[in-house]
Amino acid sequence: MRLFGVLFALLITSVLSTSSSWAQGIIRDAEIESVIREWSDPIFKAAGLNASDVNIHVINDGSMNAFVTRGQNMFLHTGIILNAETPNELIGVIAHETGHMAGGHLARSDDALKKAARPMLLTMGLGILAAVAGAPDAAAVIMSSAQKNGTVTFFAYTRVLEASTDQAAENYMEATGQSGRGLLRFFQRFRYNEVFSGATRYPYFLSHPLSSERISALETRVEASPFKDVKDSAEDIAKLNMMKAKIIGFLNPPETTFSLYPETDTTKPARYARAVANYQIASTKTALKQMRALLEEEPENPYFNEFYGQILFESGQAQKALRYHSRAVELRPDSPLLRLNLAQALIATDTPENISLAVGELKKVLAREHDNGFAWYQLSVAYERQGKITLAKLATAEQAYAMGDYLRARSFAQRALIELPQGTPEWRRANDITLVIAADPRIRKQAAQRRRH
Ligand SMILES: [Zn+2]
Repeated sequence: MRLFGVLFALLITSVLSTSSSWAQGIIRDAEIESVIREWSDPIFKAAGLNASDVNIHVINDGSMNAFVTRGQNMFLHTGIILNAETPNELIGVIAHETGHMAGGHLARSDDALKKAARPMLLTMGLGILAAVAGAPDAAAVIMSSAQKNGTVTFFAYTRVLEASTDQAAENYMEATGQSGRGLLRFFQRFRYNEVFSGATRYPYFLSHPLSSERISALETRVEASPFKDVKDSAEDIAKLNMMKAKIIGFLNPPETTFSLYPETDTTKPARYARAVANYQIASTKTALKQMRALLEEEPENPYFNEFYGQILFESGQAQKALRYHSRAVELRPDSPLLRLNLAQALIATDTPENISLAVGELKKVLAREHDNGFAWYQLSVAYERQGKITLAKLATAEQAYAMGDYLRARSFAQRALIELPQGTPEWRRANDITLVIAADPRIRKQAAQRRRH
């Protein structure tokens, strides 16, 4: 029972960390990540980058911005996705950022990456938060997370660098048979807004200075391309619209969603957005009904299955949810986030067979995303249910480590180390964690901070 108390405390930390970064943190979502990947990977390859080495992070921030940092990290604000009128515009911006990445024009951003450790998982919900409201540690956790919300030291790109990066972007667009008109149109629209609406300064164009000369140089190049007239496919346009609907549905107050997507709008994105908004206001019946209609039209859509399963799960129907989460995984076996959702539902059903299946799923998630703190947390719960208390402690150490809580990571790794048989892979891992942390200067900083409180 003591361990349960510890796990529960960790749950509070992990849930609150997620929620406190809600305002402006990294968001994770299988559907959004899959679409952006599909559009970005050919561009990365055209730029001579190894696509699987590039990390793409989506930040919940309505301001329009995108940037790249060291370690091949690309950050896209939701604002830039929502402001793109076509896939071609968004892909153009991604190509431009890829140009900075390939050119090595990279900003330092320890803070941006700290946020990446505490993602908000869109479809996994935060229903549990209500249960822990008022916990004594809550305020402290929120405060310490808020202090970490620093900003990225943006690379101040010069006009010359911008012009050459535009040319690189157009190279990638041509190499992948795409038109450069989207990027051009994106620039023209915002240039027009900046000049004619006066006050507005978009953060993106503060770091990427826009000038008429720059736009006309890009235009000359784009209009000379044999692919200048290539249009977005209807499928890609649909994907962008669904992605926008999902972002708006999850990240805006429901009344905003309902006014942007009124009942009279019977398009799929509108129905999707309204289902998400209904789920947000706990109108479970309506949300289920709306998602069921979408699922009937597209039974093979992994994300419809995922979300339908999630609504069931959160309304206490974990057993029913399993079928939809399993189907989602069948349809997209390469998606760790879909597996994580399945594992969560398996654990909730609490049968020995399902717990053991969950452990298998979580191991697959962690093989792909070793730093996924939520997956480690789920694994610690599954091990605890199985009575494998030492492995639960090790998983908790991994979770704390992934979330940057080095003191807690060390403490749990040390406890696991005492109990694990020496020389086993688990023992070595626990040992590694304590050694890595002992050598990490951040641990002293955290210890000093904690002594002050
Ligand atoms: Zn730029």
